[in-house]
Amino acid sequence: MVIRLHNSLTRQLEELRPIVDGKVSMYHCGPTVYSSPHIGNFRSFLFADVLRRFVEDQGYEVTQVMNITDVGHLTLDDVEGGEDKMEAESRRTGRTAWEIAQRYTEEFEECQRALRVRIPHYMPRATDFVPQMGSIIADLLEKGVAYAVNGNVYFEVSKFREYGKLSGKKIDELESGARVAVNAEKKDPRDFALWKVDDQHQMQWDGPFPGGARGFPGWHIECSAMSMHYLGKRIDIHTGGEDNMFPHHDCEIAQSEAHTGERYVSIWMHARHLLVDNTKMSKSLGNFYTVQSILDMGYSGLELRYALTRVQYRQSLSFTIKGLDEARAAIARVNEARKKLVRVRDGLDRPGDEELDGAVAAAHDAFTAAMSEDLNVSEALAAVFEFVAAVNRAAPTVAAVGPALAAFDRFEDVLGVFGDEPQADASSDAPAELLALLEQRAQAKADKDWQTADGLRDQIAAAGWKIVDTPAGARLEPR
Ligand SMILES: [Zn+2]
Repeated sequence: MVIRLHNSLTRQLEELRPIVDGKVSMYHCGPTVYSSPHIGNFRSFLFADVLRRFVEDQGYEVTQVMNITDVGHLTLDDVEGGEDKMEAESRRTGRTAWEIAQRYTEEFEECQRALRVRIPHYMPRATDFVPQMGSIIADLLEKGVAYAVNGNVYFEVSKFREYGKLSGKKIDELESGARVAVNAEKKDPRDFALWKVDDQHQMQWDGPFPGGARGFPGWHIECSAMSMHYLGKRIDIHTGGEDNMFPHHDCEIAQSEAHTGERYVSIWMHARHLLVDNTKMSKSLGNFYTVQSILDMGYSGLELRYALTRVQYRQSLSFTIKGLDEARAAIARVNEARKKLVRVRDGLDRPGDEELDGAVAAAHDAFTAAMSEDLNVSEALAAVFEFVAAVNRAAPTVAAVGPALAAFDRFEDVLGVFGDEPQADASSDAPAELLALLEQRAQAKADKDWQTADGLRDQIAAAGWKIVDTPAGARLEPR
């Protein structure tokens, strides 16, 4: 099926047509590792994960790169101001920038695992790619689209005619924004730094280009260097949060395309900001949640993943604690239906005489159609729940169970929100004392002591459970 994705560059849905047949390359702007990852960061990372999973589901071989920014990301990056976020955190805590990078990279990876993210094939750290950045900077200097002043190197925006084409920012808009930071070194206030000299900065390298002074790289050049290193001059899909569009991605385009002379990215995709309780998440409003803080409240990674991915990435999504409870209930509903099928398959329940072919085919089709249209997860979930209803209504044959469970496995493979196939041993959810009564009843029946057996059944019923006799023995279900 044709996959259509919304390209932020052209502002329309476009068919995914990979540069190399059957293969899709993806680059995702990753975390800046100076603090604990919050749930807003993960809306964007989970969108990238679902994108990869669905493209793989459709038979493509995906190569995914997500960088770790551990140097050069300024606190006021849109105006090239403030200080490096790593350095600011170092000053605040007394730990070195290197220690901070190590700690929060590890924490980010823990969150990925907790949220069941399929780990990208490459997760390079910017600090490991300074030589590659240097060779791009050297080329830009040689081509005359970058210039050095006092050791700092700037990209000369006026030399790249299409600068700002992604965000669509108008030139005068850009200029008035850039005026905030007065930097007399720049030929044009919009020019952005590729290399910076600052003898206070903890992370420093000898200039990795001819005549380069000791310093550190700008944030934007890092992503160009790492994506080209792993994926080549052109990539199929580049993603990020909507706040990455400008200046970060417009700068990436300018320097990459000026360097290679080719189009850098076929499809740009941006996830919308996550709202919390319908407002912007912020520490001052008291609605700021890290991934860990949600896990500490007793919610699972699956439940948080569900709550952060249940709405299509371009739609506004407001996170609430109630939404986590709804996620819990939704996941349980799906797994109850899966359990019903597993019981028939494992001989715990008597099979019926219904084939589920029509429902299975319809569920696959509706799911694929929804995901193919710009990853419409909410529609895809609607297809899953329609299928759940069909399974709950049916009395399936043993033969019908396999394809139905395979459909659930596929939905799980793409969305990753339901978890592994549930166990369905007899009465697994009933309290232990009731299971003991059930065992006594089995013995009473074997002894043909019907009066005791009935008494035990009534006791179990009074506790809110009913006995279901199956070929594999009796089990308990909530009444
Ligand atoms: Zn980036």
